[in-house]
Amino acid sequence: MSPDVRPLIAGNWKMNGTRQSLGEIKAMAEGVMGPLSDRVDALICPPATLLYVATALCTDSPLMVGAQDCHRNVSGPHTGDISAEMIADCFGTHVILGHSERRTDHGETDHIVRDKAAAAYQAELTAIICVGETEDERDSYSTLDVLRRQLRGSVPDGATADNTVIAYEPVWAIGSGVTPTAEDIDVAHSFMRSELVRRFGDEGRHMRLLYGGSVKPANAEKLMSIANVDGALVGGASLKADDFLAIYSVYEGLIAETL
Ligand code: PEP
Repeated sequence: MSPDVRPLIAGNWKMNGTRQSLGEIKAMAEGVMGPLSDRVDALICPPATLLYVATALCTDSPLMVGAQDCHRNVSGPHTGDISAEMIADCFGTHVILGHSERRTDHGETDHIVRDKAAAAYQAELTAIICVGETEDERDSYSTLDVLRRQLRGSVPDGATADNTVIAYEPVWAIGSGVTPTAEDIDVAHSFMRSELVRRFGDEGRHMRLLYGGSVKPANAEKLMSIANVDGALVGGASLKADDFLAIYSVYEGLIAETL
């Protein structure tokens, strides 16, 4: 945790979920209604097909709803894409950008991710910009070089602590059940913090840095207690309300320790 940074637990459903899964979002919306919501934010990012109905389910809950990608243009001939404005029109508040699956499956470069983040800002969405090294890059000790390059290339100059969240997601940790050591996450997050402070000053000090990659109820407390880890981007374990809420609830203990 970073001092004065409000944690965020964000779920990414990826290409999972139909209307039948909306009960899970309803249970999450109800599960985050307690006093912890004064101190910790919660966000779920279902597929775009469920966005509008999911936000309708959350109108009386602190649970926020976001999308998993947007196009860099506001409108136009881009079959199959959705714009940041369309997400905002569905009452979405956040958009995940530059996830490694988008970088790999759709060839998204840092430049494209930066343009998408700028489009998100235009629509008054918060961009969750994902960065992280592949297994080969880790094995060749290039993690910090990759993070520097991706942060510089993917984060627009207009980034603030309000409109931008950074998610460190080592590609090899996503969906693998394996996580980096606490020491390695500490090194990566401290490095990102110093890069962001150098570029954005005080805004960089307050930007949320999420860790993502095989976060589960069983390891969440350990991961969320690492310095400069201000929450999690959760894939598989966000599909079930019980698991998502168990991860969110680790902050009951962590916040009590800091009081
Ligand atoms: C993700 O894809 O953003 C992710 C972190 O997935 P998982 O939690 O399943 O590793």
